[in-house]
Amino acid sequence: MSLNEQRPTIVWFRQDLRLGDNPALKAALDENRPIILLYIYDENFASPWSIQGASLWWLGQSLLFLERKIKYFKNKLILKRGSVLNLIPHIIRETRAISLHWNRCYEPSSINRDTLLKEKLQKQGIEVTSHNALLLSEPWHNLNQSKQPFKVFTPFWNRLRNNLNISYTYWYPKHLPCPDKFPESDNLKEWKLDPFWSKKFKSYWQPGEDHAEKQLDDFIQKKIFNYSKKRDYPYDACTSRMSPYLHWGEISPARIWSKTIQQSFYKDASTEQIESFLRQLGWREFCHSLLFYWPTFPAQAWQDKFNNFPWNDKEEHFNAWCCGRTGYPFIDAAMQELWQTGWMHNRARMVVASFLIKDLLIPWQKGEAWFWDTLVDADLAQNSSNWQWVAGSGADASPYFRIFNPILQSKKFDPQGNYIRQWLPILKNLSDNDIHTPWKLSKEKLKDCGLVLGKNYPYPIVDHEVARKKALNAYKALV
Ligand code: FAD
Repeated sequence: MSLNEQRPTIVWFRQDLRLGDNPALKAALDENRPIILLYIYDENFASPWSIQGASLWWLGQSLLFLERKIKYFKNKLILKRGSVLNLIPHIIRETRAISLHWNRCYEPSSINRDTLLKEKLQKQGIEVTSHNALLLSEPWHNLNQSKQPFKVFTPFWNRLRNNLNISYTYWYPKHLPCPDKFPESDNLKEWKLDPFWSKKFKSYWQPGEDHAEKQLDDFIQKKIFNYSKKRDYPYDACTSRMSPYLHWGEISPARIWSKTIQQSFYKDASTEQIESFLRQLGWREFCHSLLFYWPTFPAQAWQDKFNNFPWNDKEEHFNAWCCGRTGYPFIDAAMQELWQTGWMHNRARMVVASFLIKDLLIPWQKGEAWFWDTLVDADLAQNSSNWQWVAGSGADASPYFRIFNPILQSKKFDPQGNYIRQWLPILKNLSDNDIHTPWKLSKEKLKDCGLVLGKNYPYPIVDHEVARKKALNAYKALV
């Protein structure tokens, strides 16, 4: 029987939008059958955490890239929109596929759906196999001595770091054999995956697996040498910017890990720099483990007592924060970076989150939802655990009394005000010293710099010192 007459196998793409180093694809090819390559966009799935806003833009670009790569092999990416639980059994019937492969996702809703699907298909005699492509070590492999999940990062990391055995060989398909007949496919353009504010994203990002590789190489060759020293400075940041590529699975953490170790060895980066970077990949794994074992993480405080926090949820304050109109230049610059690029530097994420929760007393869940909508790297595990980390309510969280001072943070991590000038050009004429606190300047001095506070740039919406005391009192009443 020729390959084409055989019953096909299906590879269902999810957060693994790559051909190289894709275990589900490799296993499917090992079956030596025709292959159907499938992506399903289920816009109602996982609500309220369905893919949204800036992430949709990334998804659209990434699928476009994947489509092109698959076309090169004369195969086709089949695009479908709707419920996975209905569509996959239908496609299996239509194509007489004999087996299905996917790479595992770890969000609670994905786990529930995938379990249901697997049971349903197995009853029909379809062989369903899942694989790990998204994590260095899946949550159930990294437990403490009592076989319980870790609640604190450092022991989690020590266990992971010491037990990780990545013997890694990069794999790329040589062929993608086609089925006799392809199922019908949607046209990607008709999905309209571009939110109205995403027009500029193209000048900051190039989604797709080839670009992920390029960006990683660039980081390892030019930036890792300064990583631990400079990773906290948002202007001209020397971090890897791998987060959206990792979230969408355009590159695997194992690939990043092994390339970092290999190439840095030849390029002479110090152990400290490499370890500092690898540790961040460790934080990513920790977040996934937390969400896996505590599925309520995105909605509820992990430490129960924080669920009774006396918030002071003012809509006008929330809107000012979202639009970058708080009157604190560092906060406003960061919120502009997010809006314009779909990404924000980690230090800035921590400072704006602290400002929302502790200065404005707005529930962390509202900030989490705003990030979910506006980040191209929005990731349920990393987003929820980091918001709870800042709030002080999460596992191994920042202590509640750690309240970032937005002025000191600005002076320390953007001493020349370059980050502020980049995202808030209205403040560009202020001196390096004045740019962090424009409200302290005289009207005349402001006028000389083209500023009228309350008109073209706001006064601070709260006084940080007053807000800090209020937050501390509220927290003290809880603990
Ligand atoms: P690098 O410094 O180069 O780090 C390499 C990789 O390690 C990152 O790509 C990321 O996958 C991982 N990583 C780095 N820092 C963290 C961290 N604190 N927690 C978990 N993983 C980390 N990251 C997301 O990917 N998606 C999110 O939705 C997200 N939401 C966040 C919300 C808040 C309030 C905060 C404070 C942080 C959030 N982060 C999130 C973590 C972090 O800010 C980003 O991963 C990082 O800024 C990405 O930049 P990079 O790739 O250059 O990081």
